[in-house]
Amino acid sequence: MDCLFCKISKGEIPAKEIYSNESVFAFEDINPQAPTHILIIPKSHYENASSLADAEPEVLAALFKAAREIAESQKLAGYRSVFNTGAEAGQSVFHAHLHLIGGRALSWPPG
Ligand code: AMP
Ligand code: ZN
Repeated sequence: MDCLFCKISKGEIPAKEIYSNESVFAFEDINPQAPTHILIIPKSHYENASSLADAEPEVLAALFKAAREIAESQKLAGYRSVFNTGAEAGQSVFHAHLHLIGGRALSWPPG
């Protein structure tokens, strides 16, 4: 399958790795929206968070645990964790990914 994030998690396309375990891989977003902007993905391919929740709920939870560990190691005072689902919501890569965004004050509502 021709999936950018599958290739990144297998090391076939370079990325700045932040975290890895048996089911999860995390790397720096190439177009950061904040001082910290990391993408946390399942190593298995799912189109979005909902499909991942159906198939491997424990891996969905593992993404959030990785977010907490990364936020703690980077000493973030707070952070936003976001899944965009569908093109209208801004999803551009159809391999589930949790955006971990922090390092500055974040406004609400999002754009
Ligand atoms: P989304 O728009 O929610 O699907 O998020 C996709 C994210 O992937 C965007 O924030 C992009 O900046 C990021 N991205 C795209 N290509 C790469 C890449 N090769 N390495 C790291 N991040 C990427
Ligand atoms: Zn994939």
